[in-house]
Amino acid sequence: MADALGSIETAWILQGLWGLVSIFAVEMVRDSYHVASHLWSPLMRLHNWHHKAYRKDFTPVSTELYQKAQLYNDVPESLVMMAVMAAVAVLTPLWGFWLGFLYGAGFLGAALLRSQGLLHSTDLTHEPGPLTTLPGLWLVNRTYHWRHHFDETTAYYAGYFTISDKIMGSALSLKGKTVAVTGASGTLGRALIKRLAAQGAKPIALSRSADAVIEGAVQVVPWRSGEEQALKDLLSRVNILVINHGVNVHGQRSADAIAASLETNALSAWRLMELFLDTVDNRLGRATKELWVNTSEAEVNPAFSPLYETSKRLLGDLITLRRQDAPCVIRKLVLGPFKSNLNPIGVMSADWVAGAIVGLVKRDIRNVIVTINPLTYILFPIKETLQGLYFKLFSKRQ
Ligand SMILES: [Zn+2]
Ligand SMILES: [Zn+2]
Repeated sequence: MADALGSIETAWILQGLWGLVSIFAVEMVRDSYHVASHLWSPLMRLHNWHHKAYRKDFTPVSTELYQKAQLYNDVPESLVMMAVMAAVAVLTPLWGFWLGFLYGAGFLGAALLRSQGLLHSTDLTHEPGPLTTLPGLWLVNRTYHWRHHFDETTAYYAGYFTISDKIMGSALSLKGKTVAVTGASGTLGRALIKRLAAQGAKPIALSRSADAVIEGAVQVVPWRSGEEQALKDLLSRVNILVINHGVNVHGQRSADAIAASLETNALSAWRLMELFLDTVDNRLGRATKELWVNTSEAEVNPAFSPLYETSKRLLGDLITLRRQDAPCVIRKLVLGPFKSNLNPIGVMSADWVAGAIVGLVKRDIRNVIVTINPLTYILFPIKETLQGLYFKLFSKRQ
């Protein structure tokens, strides 16, 4: 008897777990249906109602359009979610999947009520008003979804879990983005600009030499570290700033070497970062702007160049501090040794590193680690998490 009860309990727990799996699965069905709605014209016709229903601040264009969007987009979408879950529940047979079916039914009910004007509250990702948070990293929020409507409709498909976009590489679209890159005539700068251009971005090369020929750049702007203020106007029209300039004085430790390392690797980068963050406006900036900073794996590992490490660690720490309440996403590029003018003995090719950076940012990875040193993959996340926590506890905004 006790045994029989025990096995019934186990069966319930097991089906409960399958129920949780079904919630995740039904969201993946929603995302797949959404992708199909952008590829296959019969579904596209229905889905277009959803895209036509909202203004840029997510207020409905009209009650009529909003109600039609619910009827022609949300109703069939939830029916598909329910049908797939019911099919899995019947065919497997894992009755826990009926939870996914009920979850879909909840969306169907809400869509039907909204389409008839009987339910006025909208779902969380389409609430009107300014975008007050950064795009969600694991869960879709308004800022995340806003980009699907108004930044790039062939990306940001996810409805609730961002994992589907991470898998597809559509968690960040570079298409049409104006991306300014410092250190543009360096080995990585050149490789990155080429890769960004291949993604449909419009790279602006910031380089010491005005006549540098940089493949893929739509514009070469002469600039050297120390002249940050001169970039103010340019930065206001830039979507993504990539701070990538730096010096490596290798084994030197003279006063001049210290000054040059601190000035170029840390202070100039920090001034540029503040100047850029100042251009992020409160209305849409959180969705349309990003800062990427090449801090290098010297943040946590030796680079056999003490002043390079010291200055890059200072920059890395300042970014961790600034990340606590930054107005836009700040990504760190934590790169291992690649072959360049600064480091002729690097093992990875700059082009490969640039390709990996692009692949990872498109999956919304915010600490972009590209190295052959396995220790960095362990040490960096620990350092970043603990230091971030420490900075949060022992510093405040004002
Ligand atoms: Zn939407
Ligand atoms: Zn869509």
